[in-house]
Amino acid sequence: MALANGTSTLELDRAGTGPRTLIDPFARAITYLRVSVTDRCDFRCVYCMSEHMTFLPKADLLSLEELDRLCSAFIARGVSKLRLTGGEPLVRRGIMTLVSSLSRHLATGALKELTLTTNGSQLEKYAAELKGHGVKRINVSLDTLDADKFRAITRWGDLDKVLAGIDAAQTAGLQVKINAVALKGVNEDEIAGLLEWANGRGMDLTVIEVMPLGDVGETRLDQYLPLSMVRARLAERFTLEDIDYATGGPARYVRVKETGGRLGFITPMTHNFCESCNRVRITCTGTLYMCLGQNDAADLRTPLRASESNDLIHAAIDEAITRKPKGHDFVIDRRHQRPALSRHMSVTGG
Ligand code: SAM
Ligand code: SF4
Repeated sequence: MALANGTSTLELDRAGTGPRTLIDPFARAITYLRVSVTDRCDFRCVYCMSEHMTFLPKADLLSLEELDRLCSAFIARGVSKLRLTGGEPLVRRGIMTLVSSLSRHLATGALKELTLTTNGSQLEKYAAELKGHGVKRINVSLDTLDADKFRAITRWGDLDKVLAGIDAAQTAGLQVKINAVALKGVNEDEIAGLLEWANGRGMDLTVIEVMPLGDVGETRLDQYLPLSMVRARLAERFTLEDIDYATGGPARYVRVKETGGRLGFITPMTHNFCESCNRVRITCTGTLYMCLGQNDAADLRTPLRASESNDLIHAAIDEAITRKPKGHDFVIDRRHQRPALSRHMSVTGG
């Protein structure tokens, strides 16, 4: 039922005063929503996509207005951090309209942070506009500073364009964090260099273990490099001091004494961080995934389209949150050569 101020009764707590927050069966409050606004991308990174991907039919996509409505329903339920991702979020046509409309929640204070993860290819074009809409920090994915290797990893990407995008983002006043996937035999010798480069420009670097999502036509065992090895090797050259710094994500950070900057480790494979998981993900078709590492999902597009009131959406979200699992259990070993999940990372956006 909608109240006079437009609020749904399902958005209110028992006292009818504040938003009814989303609490999962393991007492974790869901305050972080990641939104994949498109499954398409202008790159074909070897660990993320196969070269010949089949994308969702355009007719299945939620419109930007529908994405806004869905995001706003989550914000009404206590989500205070929202990350746009993809595929490549900045290749979705009209994406700035969505960023602009979502920024109204920053203005009211309901949303504390609106951010995005991007491959950087379109940043030169959009950095200033993003800043203008209240985006403060962004993550840019970059696995190497070697142009040939960059092309080999991304298949279609142009390093210079991404570097120009990072320049534009910093010039616009956006805080940039670099995300690099650690790839055995590909960039493992470059992580020290990436760290010096990123920290030298005032950017944190986060390294990520490759996760077994989607059939990408490569053998995961060939790509997988445990971060315990990366850390041990970096520790030969740098002084790494554990720090409490947290961004609400799964990264564990160290301060690098020699650079004065920060280095984060995201270790879904070697260290399970599910106990503090505060997030859920929606795809560009309105499917809600309660865990990146599980197949269970809920359809929010049907309730979204069934009624102009948000009550059906809230009921569907509530039901889905009761199914949020305790955690994931990715495995990469010689007995598990197949992907743990058939879904590609570009569907949920990491
Ligand atoms: N296109 C954007 C980008 O690359 O930043 C956003 C979407 S991308 C799927 C989000 C992040 O997931 C990127 O940092 C990417 O490196 C990472 N990623 C993709 N596939 C992965 C995999 N199989 N294992 C670990 N990280 C992965
Ligand atoms: Fe595209 Fe990002 Fe996946 Fe690379 S990691 S193919 S840039 S979605």
